[in-house]
Amino acid sequence: MEALVIHSPGDLRVENIPAPAVGTGQIRVRIRTGGICGSDLHYYQHGGFGAIRIQQPMVLGHEVAGVVEAIAPDVQRVRVGDRIAVCPSHPCGTCRFCQQGLQNHCLDMRYFGSAMRMPHVQGAFRQEMVVGAAQAYPLAPGVSDAEGAMAEPLAVALHAVNRAGPLLGRKVLVTGCGPIGAMVVIAARRAGATTIVATDVVEQPLRKVAKVGADEVINVAQAPEQLARYAQDKGQFDVLFEASGNERALRAAFDVVRPRGVVVQLGLSGSELTLPFNTVVAKEFDLRGAFRFHEEFGVAVDLINQGLVDLKPLVSATLPYRDAGRAFALAADRTQSMKVILDFE
Ligand code: ZN
Repeated sequence: MEALVIHSPGDLRVENIPAPAVGTGQIRVRIRTGGICGSDLHYYQHGGFGAIRIQQPMVLGHEVAGVVEAIAPDVQRVRVGDRIAVCPSHPCGTCRFCQQGLQNHCLDMRYFGSAMRMPHVQGAFRQEMVVGAAQAYPLAPGVSDAEGAMAEPLAVALHAVNRAGPLLGRKVLVTGCGPIGAMVVIAARRAGATTIVATDVVEQPLRKVAKVGADEVINVAQAPEQLARYAQDKGQFDVLFEASGNERALRAAFDVVRPRGVVVQLGLSGSELTLPFNTVVAKEFDLRGAFRFHEEFGVAVDLINQGLVDLKPLVSATLPYRDAGRAFALAADRTQSMKVILDFE
């Protein structure tokens, strides 16, 4: 079978890799679609992010959906022919954090397409994949494969919303309108936020985010004063979701979050950020990180299956996997792209 293997920055190859056998508790999936994520792009453009670097060839990808092709005799959860979203998270289930229900902090996590550990965990941009049956989430009829592939980034957004606490009636600011920021807007709306303002420095993603439910979008490169007016009376927003990983975005946002506000950081940065910590002290912010997800993956699939969220407007292009170079270049161009989908059929 063929897979998309990253060797070094800019060197992404279509390669033949062996198809593994199906073991106890496992299923084989024919992958049909994969979404290109910001982290895939970081590996492709820079060979990684922060201290995490590609040290050996790695199959990219962790946002995928497909069809169940074979199951081990003991598997009850799915049947051959089921269309599924594949959860890329595979915590051990037995370590201290798994036992505490904090599976995203598993000490032995295997997350598809991640260079966080050695050997790297191979990813899901491939024609076939063997996964644990517990990682399979059936899709409802009428839900597209692309929507199924977007369950993963939606789960990331839902986890960030859970980290923020109750949003009912809250005023929310989202900085950074890539796919994750856009999905945070959708998730915050479902969670009951009454005002959602989103910022970015590029016009095209702002237009998309306005379409999926933001009440106001602000281009902070062109009109920073539109955001600054929310600084009155020590800040107007109850909750900030920082999805850009950009220090300037975070600094500007600190001025418009009210005292005792909640700041959820989910954007990763290529380098370490410097923060105005005196503002954190003086305004008594709750500063919280949000990393991956656990139970939110099932919630994401339920929301998609029941039509309670509409992610379709976020798909900006679909390309065959053999055109991966073109697809990755397109995904990196924020003036054109939101979510770029690879077709593995
Ligand atoms: Zn664990």
